[in-house]
Amino acid sequence: MKDKIIDDAIRRVYDFPKKGICFYDITGILVNPTVFNYCINKMIDFCKTLSIDAIAAIEARGFIFASPIAQKLNLPLILVRKKGKLPGEVYQASYSLEYGKATIEVHKNDIKEGQNILVLDDLIATGGTLNATKDIIEKGGANVTAFLGVVGLPFLNYKKVLKDKPIHTLIEFENE
Ligand code: AMP
Repeated sequence: MKDKIIDDAIRRVYDFPKKGICFYDITGILVNPTVFNYCINKMIDFCKTLSIDAIAAIEARGFIFASPIAQKLNLPLILVRKKGKLPGEVYQASYSLEYGKATIEVHKNDIKEGQNILVLDDLIATGGTLNATKDIIEKGGANVTAFLGVVGLPFLNYKKVLKDKPIHTLIEFENE
């Protein structure tokens, strides 16, 4: 059953950013401190079931959720950014999105060999972004322990793309 607290806070925007896409807008969570807190606590509870050394967060909405979690759990926060934003030496990966293409980068220095890393984003659609992040993390000699999102869109088949790693989301939506 859907979590009503989260469901009520997420607005559906049809045909955004392209015709045929239903955009799940999480800003309704952020403007409601009770719901935001509720989501963060649920994500913290999931993190506590794992043995992780760091959290890698996807720009930009992933940053918002990952920051309070990393701070509360006293874990390093690794930023996964769009191409050209990070000043240092980077690992890079390109991939396809539900809409469009993208390249992401992570500072080489931010990934330590042997680390167990949780990868976090606001929404998991095709899984392309998280899978590219996994490639980068593995280039750095670290491991992905699990993927975590607020929203999951399983009809876009992210489970196939992300394969054997655990995937946890707070709410899932079917094709609307
Ligand atoms: P993907 O790589 O296909 O799993 O896409 C995930 C990224 O794209 C996340 O950073 C989401 O914020 C964004 N995204 C993709 N599809 C949607 C959607 N239908 N609604 C809101 N955000 C989306």
